[in-house]
Amino acid sequence: MVEPFSAVEVITTKRDRRELTDDQIDWVIDAYTRGVVADEQMSALAMAIVLNGMTRHEISRWTAAMIASGERMDFSSLHRPTVDKHSTGGVGDKITLPLAPLVAACGAAVPQLSGRGLGHTGGTLDKLESIPGWRAALSNAEMLAQLDDAGAVICAAGDGLAPADKKLYALRDVTGTVEAIPLIASSIMSKKIAEGASALVLDVKTGSGAFMRDPDQARELARTMVGLGNDAGVHTTALITAMDVPLGRTAGNAIEVAESLEILAGGGPSDVRELTLLLARAMLDAVGLDRHDPADALDDGRAMDAWRRMIRGQGGDPEAPLPHAREHHDVHAVRDGVVTRLDAYGVGLAAWRLGAGRARKEDAVQAGAGVRWHVTQGDPVRVGQTLATLYTDTPDRFPAALADLAAAITVGDPDDAVERLPLLVDRIGR
Ligand code: URA
Repeated sequence: MVEPFSAVEVITTKRDRRELTDDQIDWVIDAYTRGVVADEQMSALAMAIVLNGMTRHEISRWTAAMIASGERMDFSSLHRPTVDKHSTGGVGDKITLPLAPLVAACGAAVPQLSGRGLGHTGGTLDKLESIPGWRAALSNAEMLAQLDDAGAVICAAGDGLAPADKKLYALRDVTGTVEAIPLIASSIMSKKIAEGASALVLDVKTGSGAFMRDPDQARELARTMVGLGNDAGVHTTALITAMDVPLGRTAGNAIEVAESLEILAGGGPSDVRELTLLLARAMLDAVGLDRHDPADALDDGRAMDAWRRMIRGQGGDPEAPLPHAREHHDVHAVRDGVVTRLDAYGVGLAAWRLGAGRARKEDAVQAGAGVRWHVTQGDPVRVGQTLATLYTDTPDRFPAALADLAAAITVGDPDDAVERLPLLVDRIGR
C-alpha cells in the first residue's frame, strides 16, 4: 500500500504551528495503529501538540479518528436509557461504586468501563477486585446481560475500544506528553463516545490531588470535553469538583469499598454522599428521569439491592468479609490545635506507597492497603489524638508513607486561615 503522507510531513506541520488537515489526522492515527508510524514519530508529534496546541476542529477530528480505530458499542437493545460517568481521577474517589447501582435503582442503565490506578490516584477496578470472586473482564454479551439484569455494570474496557488511544496513552505516559488539554480531552472522549451511552456526566477534578490543579484549566478541559461529546450526539455535562482535600475518610482498595457500603446503606461521610447525589441527579437529569430523588434510593435500600445484584452478576460475594491489611500504624497529633491542611496529593502518595497502587502497570496491588484519616480540614485536635491510620501487609513501607502523610497534614492555631474549595466548583453544559 502506498501511504498518502509521510510522518515527517505531519510532524513538521504541527512543529511549524500550522493546522493539520482532516486527511493528515485520519492517516496519522490509522497509520500509527497499523504500526506504519513509529513510536518515536508519534512522540515527536505528541510533543509538538503539547507545545503548539490544536484548534477545536483538529481536536474533534483527532477524537473521531481514534474512535474509528476500533469498535463502537451498541446498547440500543436495552429498554432503559444509558448514562455513564467519568471522573478525571482523585484521592479517595470511590464515587463510581455507590453511584452506578444508585442510578440503576432510579431506572437508568449504567455501563461503566473503568480503569486501574496508576500513580497517586486509585483505580475503580482495583477497589472492586478486593471483593472475593469479583471479576473485571466481561465479554460484550456478558456486559449487555448484566445491564439488562442489574442495570449497572462496572468492568474493564476491552481491547477493541479505541485501540489508537490505548497505544498513544502508553506512549504519552513515558514521553512527558500527558498534560495537554487536546490530548487528554480526545483520549477520554474517544473511549467514552465509543462506549455508546446516550448521555455522559464528567466529574472534572481540580486541586492538589487532580490532574488539573488550577480551576481555570479544569474549566477549559471540561468545556473541550463537553463540546466533543455534544458534537458526537452524546448529551454531555461536566461538574468541576474539589480535589484539594481527599474525598471521604479512606484511600485504598477494600477500605474504600467498605466506605461505599456505608453510603449505600444511607450513611457514610457527608462529602461522599453529597457528591454521589450531585452526580446521580446530573445523570438522571440528562436522560429525563429527573422525577426520582436518588436520596430516597440510598435511604430505603434500593441502591444497596442494585449493588448486590451488580456484584453477584460478576461472580462476587457481596456478603463476604472484605480483606484486612496484616499491619497498621497510627499517627498521633503532636500538639493541640486545628487541622488547617489535609492535602489530597500527599494522602494519595502515602496510600500508593503502602501498596494500594502500583508503580508499573504489571505490579499487583494489596487489597487491604491504604490510609484512613480520622480528622479532616477544620477539625480541632488534642495532643496525642489519632489523626490517621496506615494499613499495609508489608511494614517496611511504613517509613516512606509516614513521611508523605506527615507532610500532608498541618495542625495549626485555631485562628489560622483554613482554605478549602467548595465541593462543587462549577458546572459546564446542561
Ligand atoms: N485519562 C485518560 O484516559 N487519558 C488521558 O489522557 C488522561 C487521563
